[in-house]
Amino acid sequence: MKRTGNSLVTTHIPSGRDISLADCQQLLAALPMGVLLHREGIIQYANQEMVHIFGLESTDQLLHQPLLTFFPPETWKRIEQAVTAMDPGERGGIPAELTLIRANDTQATLESSTVVLTFQGQPTYCTVAKDISQRKQHEERIRRQANYDNLTGLPNRTLFLDRLQREVVRARRQNHRVALMFIDLDRFKWVNDTLGHAAGDDLLREVSDRLQKCLRKSDTVARMGGDEFTAILPDMAKGPYAERVASEVLAQLVAPFTLCGQEVLISGSIGIAVFPDDAATLDELLRNADIAMYRTKSAGRNGYRFFTADMHAEAQERMELENDLRYVLERQELVIHYQPIIHLTTRRVIGAESLLRWIHPKRGHISPAVFIPMAEELGVINRITEWTIRTACAQAQKWRGDNPDFFISVNLSCTRCRDLSAGENMQTIFQETGLPPTALVLEITENILSENAERAMLMLNQLVAMGVNLWLDDFGTGHSSLSVLKRLPVNGIKIDRSFVPHTASDPETIVLVEAILSLAKSLNRQVIGEGIESEAQAEFLRSRGCLMGQGYLFLKPEPAELFTSIVGKTFA
Ligand code: C2E
Ligand code: MG
Ligand code: MG
Repeated sequence: MKRTGNSLVTTHIPSGRDISLADCQQLLAALPMGVLLHREGIIQYANQEMVHIFGLESTDQLLHQPLLTFFPPETWKRIEQAVTAMDPGERGGIPAELTLIRANDTQATLESSTVVLTFQGQPTYCTVAKDISQRKQHEERIRRQANYDNLTGLPNRTLFLDRLQREVVRARRQNHRVALMFIDLDRFKWVNDTLGHAAGDDLLREVSDRLQKCLRKSDTVARMGGDEFTAILPDMAKGPYAERVASEVLAQLVAPFTLCGQEVLISGSIGIAVFPDDAATLDELLRNADIAMYRTKSAGRNGYRFFTADMHAEAQERMELENDLRYVLERQELVIHYQPIIHLTTRRVIGAESLLRWIHPKRGHISPAVFIPMAEELGVINRITEWTIRTACAQAQKWRGDNPDFFISVNLSCTRCRDLSAGENMQTIFQETGLPPTALVLEITENILSENAERAMLMLNQLVAMGVNLWLDDFGTGHSSLSVLKRLPVNGIKIDRSFVPHTASDPETIVLVEAILSLAKSLNRQVIGEGIESEAQAEFLRSRGCLMGQGYLFLKPEPAELFTSIVGKTFA
């Protein structure tokens, strides 16, 4: 509270005045707010309003009582300090904020102003007060909202940054080290999408409880938003504390959660950066912990990593690549290569798979395995997929001139489903390019069901209704291929190249492929063999009833110009 010649009292009771009890009663009766008069901490008089604030019934209950009965000890100290600090010539009341314990043991906050009077020949304090408890509670609520996360009650980003700043300053001054830990939940999105947001909220609350268990009182754990948490571990001088905390956090996160009466398994990815070892500034520390976390995620999640200098170089490179990827269409750096799909009995080229290539002006060819996941993350995959489908459809329609049965396949990224679901985009592409929907195959993987399965199924069914063919790519590499195969409206499956046996003496793979083929047959699905590199492999697949295949034995993926002469060709 500022010392502003407080309006609470000064106009009514000039400081330094001699006062009688009658005076006092008269003066204080005129004031609407609680008032109390005391000497050496003993209450001499209190008006009705003050009695009310105390939660008592009559003035008698207060009179001649020590102030300490009603106030915590520091209150009296604060009044005395305020009075001592007053300049001798100062007019007006001395402001202080006081806490009082009401009769019912609840607390109230008072804004007070004290003047020094002479009463019965003794210097006496007259303190006039106003109950500001409600305002205080309101302020406290606002402070909490500004600094704490509503859902988990943990410090939020604002308070976290404030504390980190303070710890960094302290570490600099005292030559300490501070570790910053970024903790990101794996599979949180899956929980939210499949079990609903209420379950997601429950999970975050439970995670926050578990995280707090892993830390000391002096550490700060905060929620940055979404499924991102951070921990500040100040004073790292004492042994491998950060490692221990990281291991404990991981153990806490992999222990099953119960959500909606169901056991749910998640894990966490952690990145750690230490000040001043890894960073000279707060921003650098934040960035480097994030880079280390990102590395943990891309290396398979459920682990922790300390930041290292080469991570920085890598992150830099990745950032540049990501920037370039945003403009890849405008700069026309994407090309499609086509790999023939062969009828294994007639050896004729009956279709082609479109495989994207990024020709980067500085880095040369970049594999789709690198940039497709990046494009998914950046949200540019939709535009890229649309371009690919349109370009491949237009190209295939040209090739179909002399080979009317020729079809084209395009790989569909699992996050693509949202936009295709309207179906309008696809209709426009078919109209513009003239390609009949039946000449298009979209290759999907079972991951398509991992995020929003319902929406994905809706889109897939729409595509099938249009006449588009769906093939399940990389079959055999996932976790739940058999059940997924039953659910997905696919009419073909591509056996992953890791299942195409390399030699005749690979009995296990042979048994597996035979099982896949007989399964496909009984479910009435076509089978396409991938990665055929030898005649023996082609013959093996053909003899077991796999009628289509592709691989380096026939041709590597080639640009359209080279592929033109291949369409409809028969391989000897
Ligand atoms: P995929 O769809 O399973 O494609 C087959 C991959 O195997 C291609 O790699 C192809 O070049 C390679 N391949 C073909 N025949 C052989 C062979 O005989 N031996 C060996 N060792 N490899 C062979 P590529 O072109 O590097 O593509 C990798 C993956 O990137 C593709 O796997 C696909 O999942 C993805 N991809 C490519 N283009 C696109 C696209 O336009 N959209 C999306 N979403 N993903 C794409
Ligand atoms: Mg494919
Ligand atoms: Mg494949």
